[in-house]
Amino acid sequence: MEKNRKLIVILGAGESGVGAALLAVAKGMDVFVSDAGNIAERYKQELEAHGISYEEGGHSKWWLEQAVEVIKSPGIADETPVMKEVKACGIPVISEIEFAGRYTQARMICVTGSNGKTTTVSLVYHILKAAGVDVALAGNVGCSLARQVAAGDHACYVVELSSFQLEGMYDFRAHVAVLLNVSPDHLDRYGGEMMRYVDAKLRIVQNQQPGDALVYWADDPIIGGRLKEKASEVEAALYPFAAETGERDVAAWTDGEKLYWDRPVAFNMELEDLALTGVHNYYNSMAAGLSALVSGVRSDVIREALGTFKGVEHRLEKVGMVKGVEFINDSKATNVNSAWYALHSMTKPTILILGGKDKGNDYAEIIPLVKEKCKALVYMGLHNEKLHSVFDPLGLPVHEVHSMVDAVNAAYGEAVEGDVVLLSPCCASFDLFTSYEDRGQKFKACVEELRNR
Ligand code: ADP
Repeated sequence: MEKNRKLIVILGAGESGVGAALLAVAKGMDVFVSDAGNIAERYKQELEAHGISYEEGGHSKWWLEQAVEVIKSPGIADETPVMKEVKACGIPVISEIEFAGRYTQARMICVTGSNGKTTTVSLVYHILKAAGVDVALAGNVGCSLARQVAAGDHACYVVELSSFQLEGMYDFRAHVAVLLNVSPDHLDRYGGEMMRYVDAKLRIVQNQQPGDALVYWADDPIIGGRLKEKASEVEAALYPFAAETGERDVAAWTDGEKLYWDRPVAFNMELEDLALTGVHNYYNSMAAGLSALVSGVRSDVIREALGTFKGVEHRLEKVGMVKGVEFINDSKATNVNSAWYALHSMTKPTILILGGKDKGNDYAEIIPLVKEKCKALVYMGLHNEKLHSVFDPLGLPVHEVHSMVDAVNAAYGEAVEGDVVLLSPCCASFDLFTSYEDRGQKFKACVEELRNR
């Protein structure tokens, strides 16, 4: 059968898939949306309002004959049966970001890494807004890029890219690429192969041209080495940032009192004037500052904006004090590395609430910090055996709970004035909660309850 030249099939009807469908229809293409699960009511209404046909609860096969291109949502793995069939039929597969990139000339500032993406894109967005740029947030935060391009476009996008989104990108060009860090998260999707995960992240530099910028963390144990191996493929100007300069050529660094930016314009700022605390946020602030500098934002605007940023919910979010005990919500710490940074930034005796759905975690990384910073631990998961075997030998008081209310009560019971209760779980939330947001909201509600008691 001759292919219908315009049928675009979109797999997955979440924000990314629906955004892609809206853009495809706006560009005059025939679109079909297919989702293996249930499609949220609001998305169904949107699809119907635009006359877009869809199916849910499974993938039919008729469209395999007709599709000229498949746009795959980031949540769908290559190994799923439908993707195997798409591949067998030889249909090209792209991501929603790749698709949207074809229809906009906007400046793209793209951020990837294992941890810190949302914080950094939000910082960059805040700075560019302060500078008066016509900018929008896209990717994993806010609305999908495709939806925004369909709705009228902007001069600049700050895009959060996961490795899953990067996989389906071929011609998309990042004018500024930010590579924050690589830690062994999501290895389940890569069959445990670290280099495949790293190379997915490094796709952010493909198609960069001379005059573009690559901002990256110079001290990442993996990125630096892999970038050297791929040096001949990197055309962008390099802007590495690091905790300290050493003998190296870095574009931004800190000496423990100030952050310094060296190029394209030199300026500095006291650490205590930054809105966000913790070493990881120094990195995020350096990366955001560099992205703004290479985009032509004045240093005084950057300095001011880095001082006024309000932070992002569920990331070291200060919830409040109850009788001198501080509560901090870091529910987004779904891996060990992000909890490491949270603990590292604690300056008071800490009662740590951790646990949840373990993604093959190696907790060894945080043991020294738990010893140094924690006075008690609360294990909050459906299965806490691994936590017992790793942390019980440290000899700290431990509590085993299966709900947020019990976790907060147990932690508060261990606390005295001047302590901090930190929710930084190291794990995904899906055993007891619907999402990390749900987990963080419940934590905040329990703290509120304590306050009113
Ligand atoms: P992402 O969007 O990559 O998941 P977030 O900004 O949402 O990143 O932060 C996720 C978690 O990682 C939070 O717990 C936060 O405190 C921690 N974190 C933020 N920035 C960094 C960083 N540069 N390095 C390591 N951990 C970080």
